[in-house]
Amino acid sequence: MPNHNTHYIVKNINSTSGRSCNCKSWLDHWYRGTGQSRTTCCVIPCSKKAEVGAHVLLTDGRRTGQWWIVPMCKEHNHHTNKTDMVIDSRTDLISANISQTCEVW
Ligand SMILES: [Zn+2]
Ligand SMILES: [Zn+2]
Repeated sequence: MPNHNTHYIVKNINSTSGRSCNCKSWLDHWYRGTGQSRTTCCVIPCSKKAEVGAHVLLTDGRRTGQWWIVPMCKEHNHHTNKTDMVIDSRTDLISANISQTCEVW
C-alpha cells in the first residue's frame, strides 16, 4: 500500500486552462523548476509519456492550500478525471504560484 513516505496522493484541479506563466508550457515550468529529467507521467502505475504539466492539489493532508505542477500524460490530466491519483514521492512538486517560481527564475 502507498504510504506517506513513499507516495503523494493528488487530485486534478479543473478550470485551470486559462492560467499561464512565462515558460513555454506548464510542463516546461516543471522541468525548469525541478531540474528533473523524467519523461513519463508521474501517476503510478502509468508509464505513458508526460505531455503536460498538470495542476494538482495534495489530498493526503500535507501542504494543503497550495497548487502544484507535476508531469502527466493527457489521459490523467483530464477534466473528467476526478479520482485521487497516487504519485511517486520522488517526483518533485513545483509550486503553481508563479510569483514564487518562474517570475524569480
Ligand atoms: Zn498517466
Ligand atoms: Zn513558469
